[in-house]
Amino acid sequence: MSKRDYYDVLGVAKGASKDEIKKAYRKLALKYHPDRNPDDKEAEVKFKEASEAAEVLLDENKKARYDQFGHAGVDGQAGGFGGGGFGAGGDFGDLGDIFGDIFGDILGGGRRGGGRRRHRGTPGNDLQMTLDVSFEEAAFGVEKNISLTRYVECETCDGSGAQNGSQPSTCDMCNGMGEVRRQQGFFTVATTCPKCQGSGQMITDPCGSCSGQGRKRKKVDLAVKVPEGIDTNQRLKLSGEGDAGTQGAPDGDLYVVINVQPHSIFERDGFNLHCTVPISFTQAALGDEVEVPTLDGRVSVTIAEGTQSGKKMRLKGKGIQRLGAYGHGDLILTIHVETPTKLNGEQKDLLRKLGEIRGDHKSHPMSRGFFDKVKDLFQ
Ligand SMILES: [Zn+2]
Ligand SMILES: [Zn+2]
Repeated sequence: MSKRDYYDVLGVAKGASKDEIKKAYRKLALKYHPDRNPDDKEAEVKFKEASEAAEVLLDENKKARYDQFGHAGVDGQAGGFGGGGFGAGGDFGDLGDIFGDIFGDILGGGRRGGGRRRHRGTPGNDLQMTLDVSFEEAAFGVEKNISLTRYVECETCDGSGAQNGSQPSTCDMCNGMGEVRRQQGFFTVATTCPKCQGSGQMITDPCGSCSGQGRKRKKVDLAVKVPEGIDTNQRLKLSGEGDAGTQGAPDGDLYVVINVQPHSIFERDGFNLHCTVPISFTQAALGDEVEVPTLDGRVSVTIAEGTQSGKKMRLKGKGIQRLGAYGHGDLILTIHVETPTKLNGEQKDLLRKLGEIRGDHKSHPMSRGFFDKVKDLFQ
């Protein structure tokens, strides 16, 4: 593919003044700037093309060579865009800074932020851990001790990273700016200072305890207040209990994800509890008072005469304390009538007798309806 004429690319005449070229480029660059055309390959190509043209035509020497010899006169010289700045990994991260005087405040906002990119320290990471609690602990709340290993501020140097008494000095590579600028064509490229990693400071006499990091990993013990009513997969945020930041940058947070152990009797559904209560076939038929468990002791409930298996009874307010609110959920009992097994001869005789007296199926409310329907079905 033959290269387009640089004047054509910018849409200016051969004798165009520097201002006209700047103006033309500015217009194109704004239109095709990768910040404004994310993931648009064509715009990226156009942007590179225009930038390359501008780089040559705005440079007295290159322009003179280009005017005399065409592309052959400047090939390989407009390197700022062919390789380095762009292509590499498709990262346009520094572009906002590249355009210094041409763009001024136009692309403003966002990443330019005045061109100064000074990072003071690194914020600490957020951490997450899982905490097992028993069913009752989740229901009533508990204070648990946990231990974890995290970055903490170095006690020896109070987080400065500098040896006791010594002061960090200003970075001599960036003069404390945190970034270095270098000329590339007519652009100024600003990058984070490699010597001080953007902090603008150098530790000449590093703290021996933390090797100048200002923080180190340490096992710490914490008390966690688990509120009553919490449930599995809910998480508690402990602000500032994550990794310590460096050089005064904020500390991370710690998230504690709750895992509630199952209960042998109760099942939880939000703030309601479910429990299956087995009763004998005689209790179901004749009625009875039975004791049922709740989270805070036993209570007595009345089984009505003729109770069917599967019947539900609701004990208001006997569920779990609502998390961060007033009141409790309910305890819902499901009655399960147990069919007698291992009957002896006498018991079987009595049951047969009972069956005969009752005329069986026909006298049970539910089965009567059922056998009527069967009769209808085969009429
Ligand atoms: Zn230290
Ligand atoms: Zn520096």
